[in-house]
This record gives sequence, structure tokens and C-alpha cells, in this order.
Amino acid sequence: MWDQYGRHIHYLRISLTDACNLRCVYCMPEHMTFKRREELLTDEEILRLVRVFADLGVDKIRLTGGEPTIRPRLVELVRRIKSTPGIKELTMTTNGLLLPELALPLKQAGLDRVNISLDTLNPEKFRAITRWGRLEDVMAGIHAAEAAGLEPIKLNCVVTRGFNEEDVVDLARLTLIHPWEVRFIELMPFGDVADFAQSAVVPSRETRARIEAALGPLEEIPGYDLRDPARPFRLPGAQGRIGFIDTISNPFCEGCGRIRLTADGKLRLCLLRDREVDLLAPLRAGESDEALKRIIVDAVYHKPWGHGLARNIIPKERVMSQIGG
Ligand code: SAM
Ligand code: SF4
Repeated sequence: MWDQYGRHIHYLRISLTDACNLRCVYCMPEHMTFKRREELLTDEEILRLVRVFADLGVDKIRLTGGEPTIRPRLVELVRRIKSTPGIKELTMTTNGLLLPELALPLKQAGLDRVNISLDTLNPEKFRAITRWGRLEDVMAGIHAAEAAGLEPIKLNCVVTRGFNEEDVVDLARLTLIHPWEVRFIELMPFGDVADFAQSAVVPSRETRARIEAALGPLEEIPGYDLRDPARPFRLPGAQGRIGFIDTISNPFCEGCGRIRLTADGKLRLCLLRDREVDLLAPLRAGESDEALKRIIVDAVYHKPWGHGLARNIIPKERVMSQIGG
């Protein structure tokens, strides 16, 4: 599929649930209400849509949420998605808490690799950011993912002023001894947490300067793929990599080939734009695969060029956990 700006769209992120076992301050309000089960896509509905998207050329899928690992029957769902003809790569973004039990079964079911969220190596700060999470559980999850071969391991760190802007140095240091990629993400504003997010953004250039002041100059790794939001760097002598996702200060919309399917069956064309196209209603109304394909192709063609944060256009309808980050 191609959009009207000539971007090739072949990467789908599927949110398996809007619910989560944490409540990260930048992601959702503390007293979040979640969708009822009947409002969410069933396993069979997800698999049908995966077949339809694969027929349209989608070959890369990332499972996300909310927290994807809390979805019942996840391993079987992964197995069936990965065995869909045309799907070459299946990955997941997770907070890692349940990976000690799930990493190996997920790998055996066909999951290729995971991105795990980790904002600090300080247990108290971790609890403050996630509202109750235990750092040791995430670390156990990271090691379980590595032992299961869900590699290369990528760690996502959202940098939030007042919470973890100093902690980026310790996280960057991990790449000296582990072959992991640590990616520093600029905070993005959404829905109910937009005001907080806007005031707590730490620009990537500040994060980079902090890391370089402590650990030495970063060298750029050649061969950067424009479709990857994180430009890769390395600390001198490091085993792993460092990336910066500067959505706010350096938008990468030009190379964006991503579309998202929310847990309640809406096709979201840009993370930071509220425009969505409903797939759940036509699916449940018994529309044919061909009719679904027409809706999807038309929606994708009209994928917005990029976000409007610089002009203060903020996505209001959903927070990140309801979209699928
Ligand atoms: N629960 C899983 C996790 O935390 O990795 C997957 C879903 S989570 C919404 C996906 C990613 O979005 C995480 O890396 C999270 O840190 C990031 N995220 C959440 N809210 C964000 C925000 N306001 N700005 C930037 N990134 C955000
Ligand atoms: Fe849950 Fe992930 Fe959002 Fe944190 S970032 S509240 S782990 S969905």
C-alpha cells in the first residue's frame, strides 16, 4: 500500500489491549477506566484483519498495548499471527514484567524480538514513574528475553523532566557491557496527560549532551535506515547502541510507514493525529474481505503527512495506552 505522499505502508502495530498492569505517569491517569471485553477485537477478528492486511502487503507487525502480555491466550495468538502467509517479522513492545514466564513460549511461538520499556535503573524512581512497578521484575524480564533469544533487545526510555532526566547516563552505560540498544524517547502529549507531557519534555539534544559529558562522544553508526525513528549511535568501545527518538524536536514523518490497529478495532493512521477509521463495525456487520480491503486502502492513502505538535495540534481523544505505542 502507498499513501498519497508516496510512502510505502507495510508495518502494522496492533494493540492487544488498552489495559495494563502499570500506570506510567506519562501514559495514563492513575484512575484509568478500560474498555469492556466486548468492545475489543476478539482473537478471531484480529487474525482475520491480519490476513487482510497481509494480503495488502503488510509484512511486519508489532504487538503492543496497553500491556500486550496480559492478554489471555497470547502465545497461541502469536503463533497464529506469525504463521499468516506474508508476515515476515513479528515483534512486541512490553513493560517486561511477565517475560520471565512468557519469553521462551513466545519465542517458540514465532515472536522475533521485543522492545522493553525501562526509564531508570533506580528502584524508587521506577516505582514513582510506573506508580507501583518493581525494577527487579523488569530486569528479570530483560534477562529472560535475552536467554530466550528475543534479540536484539531494545530498551525504550521515555525521558521525563523531574522524573528521570539524570538517569539517562546509567541507562546509556548499559550498552558498554550488553549488546542492547537503548533508545531515548521524547515525551509526547496525549489526551488527559497532555498538559503534564508538554511541560516535562526533555529535548534529545539535552539527553545526548548529558550522556556525552559523562561517557564520551557518541559516534554515529553508518547505514541509517530512514524508516527507523531512532538514528543509531555508539559509545566508544560499546557492545550495544544508543538511539534517540526525537518526535518533537526532529520529526521523522517523512519516512513513516507505520499504521496502527487499536484494541477496539480502529485503524489509526498517525500516532499523533486523532483521525481514525473504524474496522470493527464493518467486520461485525459481516462485510467481505474485499470490502474491508477497500476501506483500508482508502484510509491508508489518506494517512496524514505528519503531526501538528509545532502548531499545537495535540491528539485529544486517546492516551498512548489506548492507541498502541
Ligand atoms: N506497555 C508496553 C510498554 O510500556 O512498553 C507497551 C505499550 S506502551 C504505550 C509503548 C511505549 O510507549 C512505551 O515505551 C512507553 O514508554 C511509551 N509511551 C507511553 N506514553 C508515552 C508518551 N506520552 N510519550 C512518549 N512515549 C510514551
Ligand atoms: Fe502500561 Fe506501557 Fe503505558 Fe506504562 S507505558 S502504563 S507499561 S501501557
